[in-house]
Amino acid sequence: MVNTASDKVIKLKEQIKPHLFAEFSDRYKSEPRGLFTCKEGIVLVPETTFDVAEILVQCNILQMPVIPFGGGTGLVGGQIYTGSEYPAVVSLHHMNRIREVSPLDQTVTVEAGCILQDIHEEVEQYDHIFPLSIASKGSCQIGGNLATNAGGVHVMRYGNTRDLCLGVEVVLPDGTIMNNLNKLHKDNLGLDLKNLLIGSEGTLGIITAATMKIFPKPMEETTALLSVSDLETALELLIFFKKHFGNLISAFELISATGFEFVQETGLVTRLPFKVIPRWAVLVDLGSEFYMDLNERLGEVAGLAVERELVLDGVIAHSEQQRMEFWAIRELIPEANRLVGAIVSNDISLPISKLPTFVARAESALAQIGHFRTNCFGHIGDGNLHFNVFALRHSDLSITKELRDHIRETILNIVNDLEGSTSAEHGTGRLKVEEIPKYRSQAFVGTIEKIKQTLDPNNIMNPGVLIPPQD
Ligand SMILES: Cc1cc2nc3c(=O)[nH]c(=O)nc-3n(C[C@H](O)[C@H](O)[C@H](O)COP(=O)(O)OP(=O)(O)OC[C@H]3O[C@@H](n4cnc5c(N)ncnc54)[C@H](O)[C@@H]3O)c2cc1C
Repeated sequence: MVNTASDKVIKLKEQIKPHLFAEFSDRYKSEPRGLFTCKEGIVLVPETTFDVAEILVQCNILQMPVIPFGGGTGLVGGQIYTGSEYPAVVSLHHMNRIREVSPLDQTVTVEAGCILQDIHEEVEQYDHIFPLSIASKGSCQIGGNLATNAGGVHVMRYGNTRDLCLGVEVVLPDGTIMNNLNKLHKDNLGLDLKNLLIGSEGTLGIITAATMKIFPKPMEETTALLSVSDLETALELLIFFKKHFGNLISAFELISATGFEFVQETGLVTRLPFKVIPRWAVLVDLGSEFYMDLNERLGEVAGLAVERELVLDGVIAHSEQQRMEFWAIRELIPEANRLVGAIVSNDISLPISKLPTFVARAESALAQIGHFRTNCFGHIGDGNLHFNVFALRHSDLSITKELRDHIRETILNIVNDLEGSTSAEHGTGRLKVEEIPKYRSQAFVGTIEKIKQTLDPNNIMNPGVLIPPQD
């Protein structure tokens, strides 16, 4: 009979090939914001799908918690076990082969441990793009992107990770390999199990490979940073651009004055394109697969927007380097936030029409609690805001857990009231697991529980994520 943690580890070591074990190093002990930590565990580094299957068979027999681990960049603590048992962390980084790029099928087939940026670079050699783009692209893995259904800056045009996936290969908790790596752009035979696995954050199985959509590389790309007076005007500008450019808009990102100030204050960006930092600005990115003098068209349309008082001021990138500089400002905001240190971070989505109401109500509710700085930024083109709250500079405010919880709950209740979601693109993880029963119906929660019970009756896969722990 095997019951204690050390017995289980000894047993596992007897059953699994020795070269599949690795050191439980620092990268497995904490996540980017340091909100969750795990002191001990065992790390397994499979090289093939069969290795993953063998690991899950043994962990299932031993009833050991299994924590799938990708790039470790997740922001909701899904990759860090916090329970009382001894976890088996399964790190996919050795499974990093790009199996096939097929421009004719418009697909790339990759193993789960491929770093997102490596996929970008490989596909580019075929004059194509894989459009999933997030600031952590140099470290995160496609398996983690699928498990969290990552969003990023190009959702408006290309959709989120779920929309980009045609097929997955997955190992279920009992070790069964389910290979659905098809390249079909249409497939209605049976239930869409792929979409159940995507976004399941390692609670229903381990994704080992996927077939993803690729697109022809845009021939022209251009970017503008435009300041606007308020959020209502930013949304009017979005409609105005949609009328002129349709789905050539690949990103429409909001940046607030605080975002510009933070990247400057933290020294991440030394030069800003505005003389005076605007209260609000949008970064608009366009791409076209055919030549149409996009930069000049953007100049004309931006000029019209100024005439109609939709835009106060702005700059259009006149070189690829300047485009990258504009993008760097946007992409460095999460790192600047981390350096400044948020009291509360929120990744929320709302019906696009309700974004201005949300910001007005959230700012006013915060003012009732105290004096704070907020950094509100994100993908307003698809209704996803990051609304982060910080102490004022030189503030002696005592940041207690009660204060954080009160602020978070106040903001999330407004989101819920406006029919939004308290988790837009980062997932639920351990950070937001309590929000599921709070903001979803009993029928919804009950259905998740039944699915979990059916696929993972021993609850070995990432316990504590998606379903709140019972103890
Ligand atoms: C600076 C920064 C910027 C970011 N920007 C964005 C953004 O714009 N949009 C966005 O959506 N996210 C963003 N993120 C969050 C993060 O990068 C994404 O959630 C990413 O998809 C996580 O991938 P990962 O490989 O790092 O996964 P990990 O952090 O390792 O894991 C995340 C979850 O997926 C599970 N998992 C990992 N691999 C597998 C697998 N093969 N099979 C099953 N389950 C698995 C883990 O158990 C965990 O629950 C950002 C993070 C940082 C640090």
